[in-house]
Amino acid sequence: MVRTRFAPSPTGYLHLGGLRTALYTYLYARRMGGSFILRIEDTDQEREVPGAIDKIYQSMKLAGLKYDEGPDVGGEYGPYIQTQRRDIYLPYAQKLVELGGAYYCFCTKERLDEERAKAEKNGGQFKYDKHCLHLDKKEAQRRIEAGEPYVIRQNIPATGTASFDDALYGHVEVDCSTLDDNVLIKADGLPTYNFANVIDDHTMGITHVMRGSEYLSSAPKYNLLYESFGWQPPIYVHLPVVMRDATRKLSKRYGDPSFEDLLEQGYLREAIINFIALLGWSPRSEREFFTLEELEQAFDLEGLNKSPSIFDMNKLTWFNGEYIRKLTPEQFLSAATPWLEKALDKDKFDFKRIASLLQNRTDVLNQIPDMVDFLAQMPEFSDELYVNKKMKTNPQVALNALKALRPVIAGIEDFNETNIHDALMSHIASLGMKTGQALWPMRIAISGKQATPGGAVEIAYLIGKDETLRRMDAAIGKLEA
Ligand code: GLU
Repeated sequence: MVRTRFAPSPTGYLHLGGLRTALYTYLYARRMGGSFILRIEDTDQEREVPGAIDKIYQSMKLAGLKYDEGPDVGGEYGPYIQTQRRDIYLPYAQKLVELGGAYYCFCTKERLDEERAKAEKNGGQFKYDKHCLHLDKKEAQRRIEAGEPYVIRQNIPATGTASFDDALYGHVEVDCSTLDDNVLIKADGLPTYNFANVIDDHTMGITHVMRGSEYLSSAPKYNLLYESFGWQPPIYVHLPVVMRDATRKLSKRYGDPSFEDLLEQGYLREAIINFIALLGWSPRSEREFFTLEELEQAFDLEGLNKSPSIFDMNKLTWFNGEYIRKLTPEQFLSAATPWLEKALDKDKFDFKRIASLLQNRTDVLNQIPDMVDFLAQMPEFSDELYVNKKMKTNPQVALNALKALRPVIAGIEDFNETNIHDALMSHIASLGMKTGQALWPMRIAISGKQATPGGAVEIAYLIGKDETLRRMDAAIGKLEA
C-alpha cells in the first residue's frame, strides 16, 4: 500500500513550491488508494517561526488536502512532530554506530572552527576529517558517561560512490569523497534533518518520498543510511523547482506570493490548486481544467516534468477568471460579497444584481472594490469622457441628451430596471435620437467612468432615482458652466 508524506518545516507560510509538493504527494496517495501523511519537521528549532505549525494545518485545510495521519488528526505511526519523537532517534543512531555507519564525535567547536578556517584559507570547502572515527569504542563510552558533550556523525565511506534511483531524474550518483560526515544527532540530543527524515520515513512505512529537488544531492547520503541499516529505501521522486522567471526561483523573499497571499488577493482556491497542479505535471492532453477530485483520478508520475516550471502570474489571473466564469451566480455572489462590502453598504445596494454584472468582467476578486466604488461615491471626471468617436458624442451632445432624459427619469414611479429601460427607450425613439448618443452620455454622467459594469439603466437602478437625478443635475450644471 502506497504511503506518502508531506514533511514541511515550520518556518513560515506555505510557499507555492511547497504547496505543489504537498499537492502532488496528496494526489499520488489518492490516485493509488494509499495514505497521505503530514509530518512536521521541526528539529531545527532555531529556524522555527512561532505559530507556523498551526499555519501549516490551516493551509492544508484551505487547500483541501486532507491527510489521513498527522499531528492534529492522529494515526498509528505517531507522534507526527519530530520534536515529539526525540526519544526515537538516539537508539537508532547508537545502533548505526554498532553497524559502523556512524560514530561518536567529541570535537569542540573551537577545533572545528579552526579546521574550517584552515580549509577556507586554502580555498577549499570544509569537510570533517574523521578525527573521532578511530576513537576506541570503550573510550568513547567512558567520555559519554562522564557527561562530555558529543554528536553522532554519519560515517561516509572515504572512497567509492553513493547513489540512488529517482523516479524522475533516474540514477543519481556522487563520489563519496565529495560528501561530508554530517551530524546525525546534535549535542542537544535532537537529530538533524539528515537523520530524522530517514528514520521517520522508514518507521512510518513511507513508500514514496516526494520533495523538492534541493534534496537531490543529499539523497545518496540518505541512501547510505538505508543501506547501513539494511532497510529497503522508499521510491524517491524529487520535484523540479518552481521559477519566477527564466533565472530566478520563486521566493517569498522577493515578494512572490504565498498560497495565503493569493487567497487574500481573491484568487479562488480551486483555480490555484488546478494551476499549481499543472506547474510540472501534464495530463498529456490539451485539457487544462481539473477539480481536485479529477486530479485525484488523473495524476500520475509519468506526467511529471523534469525541467523547472515557471509560475506565470498573468496566466494564473486568466485561469482564475475562467474559474469565476464557471461559478454559479450564487457561488459568485458569496465569493464577491466580502469584496463588495469593502466599497458598498450592503443595506443600500442590491448586491445580487451587482454581482451578476460583475461575474463576466472579474478575473480576481480584489478588482471588485475599484469596479463598484463609483456607485457609492460619484468620482470627479473630465467632460472629455463624453467624447466618443464611434457613438458620435461630445459634451454638447451630452448636454442635450441629459436635459432630454432628466424629466423621463423624474417621471418614473416604480424605479426598476424594466421601467427605466422602457421609459428611456421610448422617449429616445420619440425624439429621433440615436440610443448610443443618449445612453452613453447618461452613463458617463452618473458613473464618471469610461468603463463600468452595466450601462446607464443598470447603474441608475442601482444608485436609485434620487441619486440618479442628483448626478444628472450636477453633470448638466457642469456642462453648462
Ligand atoms: N522538511 C523539509 C522541508 O521543509 C522536507 C524535506 C523532505 O520532504 O524530506 O524542506
